Amino acid sequence: MNIIWLINLLLLLTPLNGITVKESQAPAARRLTIYYVDVEGGAATLIVTPAGESILIDTGWPGNDSRDAKRIEAAMKKAGIVAIDHLIITHYHTDHFGGVPELATRVKINQFYDHGPMTSLSEDLKFEQKYKAYLEATKGKSVTLKPGSVINLKRNAGSPPVGFQVLSARGEVISETGMASNPNRQCARAEDRPIDTTDNARSIVFKLRIGNFDFLDTGDLTWNIEKRLVCPVNLVGEIDLYQVGHHGTDTSNNPVLLRSITPTVAIMNNGPRKGGHPDTVRNLQGLPLFADLYQMHRNLGVSPDQNTSEELIANLDEANDRGHMIKVEVNINQREFSVTNERTGATQTYPIK
Ligand SMILES: [Zn+2]
Repeated sequence: MNIIWLINLLLLLTPLNGITVKESQAPAARRLTIYYVDVEGGAATLIVTPAGESILIDTGWPGNDSRDAKRIEAAMKKAGIVAIDHLIITHYHTDHFGGVPELATRVKINQFYDHGPMTSLSEDLKFEQKYKAYLEATKGKSVTLKPGSVINLKRNAGSPPVGFQVLSARGEVISETGMASNPNRQCARAEDRPIDTTDNARSIVFKLRIGNFDFLDTGDLTWNIEKRLVCPVNLVGEIDLYQVGHHGTDTSNNPVLLRSITPTVAIMNNGPRKGGHPDTVRNLQGLPLFADLYQMHRNLGVSPDQNTSEELIANLDEANDRGHMIKVEVNINQREFSVTNERTGATQTYPIK
């Protein structure tokens, strides 16, 4: 038998099947996907890693015939997952943790995380009753996250590891060790405001990293602790995708935070009449190297030009245009990430820093 012919035959037969299978499976498997579920001015962000592991950040509101739990379930179906591996509650306000009991009756939740036990909240007279329902859903087995906590996530062969680190929780920020020699020049003009005693200031803040892609979610963190995250030293670094803090209100989104993290894209989970403050919109759009601001809803309380442009808004109308998601896909191999507005089907692609 001719040796060249034999080699050709072997090349043709053996690897071909292997390559065909790999190519059909690999592109989807390598991407990290983030779904912004519309929970009408609450928060519910679903992250699915390249290994298929799922992290849900907050659960939206209770009631309305389990509207938010159903929308999260629909997002899970689109993502092809059947359980939530990690549920992180940023803080104990109804628009973030109120949906837990309803979600827990509909889908399997493997592990709960929060910022630790609370007995009362001065801003919510019904807190005790809501917290009791939450503890029943978690069976009292939530993990307390602290500044510096990490969640170990599975690694998919062929993808870089996914890092998940808590930067702030319960009003404390991660230690500055080793970074003190590098002061942040943006801090000179930054001022404090009166201390926020609500649970917003105790929000869990985390950074998620895959390859060079960085995503920051600050929950409903407010002004002074946002400043502590970047002053005197920037403990966050520059990021690619920013979940606009506190639904876009102006008690959060301290300009010194925004100028220090310099996001490329920001996604704001505002409601039709909640959050989406024009100052936040303007401050984000004025950042150097900023590309696009997406909104979950048009803010109907201000003029259209005080919102982002219409094609970047997922839900336009209060009455009959609701429930559309925003989807982010991170393509590490191409060093880019894309954002899809489910309402229009349009996708925009951005380079990873
Ligand atoms: Zn909120």
